[in-house]
Amino acid sequence: MTGPDTLAPRAPLPMQTGACGSVAAALVAGEVAFAGSGPGDPELLTLKVARALLQADVILFDRLVSDEIMALAGPQAVLEDVGKEGFGPQVSQEEICARMVAHARMGKKVLRLKSGDPTVYGRLDEELTACEEAGIAYQILPGITAASAAVASIGQSLTQRGRNASVRFLTGHDMKGFADHDWAALARPGEVAAIYMGKKSARFVQGRLIMHGADRATPMTIVENASRANQRVIETTLERLPTDLAAAELTGPALTFLGLAPRASAQALTDLKLELA
Ligand code: SAH
Repeated sequence: MTGPDTLAPRAPLPMQTGACGSVAAALVAGEVAFAGSGPGDPELLTLKVARALLQADVILFDRLVSDEIMALAGPQAVLEDVGKEGFGPQVSQEEICARMVAHARMGKKVLRLKSGDPTVYGRLDEELTACEEAGIAYQILPGITAASAAVASIGQSLTQRGRNASVRFLTGHDMKGFADHDWAALARPGEVAAIYMGKKSARFVQGRLIMHGADRATPMTIVENASRANQRVIETTLERLPTDLAAAELTGPALTFLGLAPRASAQALTDLKLELA
């Protein structure tokens, strides 16, 4: 459960730039902007983030930020790939924080670019804390999270009156391994969840849900590379999830929906495109 403390605004809000939230937001020398690049399609960037890309002196970016988006960086920008792969970090979190702080102290306009939205599975807080401890001001520029892009591609809604009044964002794994959740609640009919980082944990998630009484015929949909040219949609059920996932041999980032099947018309369109290809 989330307590009142975790919902409270972060303490040093007054330290943030005055530009935060205003239309005229711009990067400030010696400060850090934490921004979301969206799911990959550059057209899904916000105008603010597109402008930040143009203005930044240094951009520390994650693995899932697409090449097309990095191509929008200004010519002066120094690009630092601090991508993290799967279960283990390539550049450690400490190193990322240290570099970010060092650049800001040198008076650079620092852009810390994360895929999707920086507040969703982005390890944002550790980096905000590093800024706070170093006395460096920051702003947060939101982005479109993978769940929003993925659900759009299957013609569904994340919430639907009469079906699900709430939706959960889950991660398949955390730093310690497979992540635990309220499986009993998730196993109820009509539940909808967007599972991030769910490829390796598919069998675990399936097992937990079935153990808690979920219907094996519950629809599951996997969207790989949502919003990108190589997007793929795999329609399956809880019963067949691990088998169909393995057969699909996904190589890109994938979002798994519990409780959602592609809307029939969206599926028909995909079939037609494949037929015509
Ligand atoms: N901050 C990001 C999530 C980072 S965690 C966001 O808001 O989207 C990384 C996970 O996000 C991936 O393992 C995958 O589950 C999901 N993801 C990111 N981009 C995706 C994409 N284009 N298509 C499908 N899933 C994606």
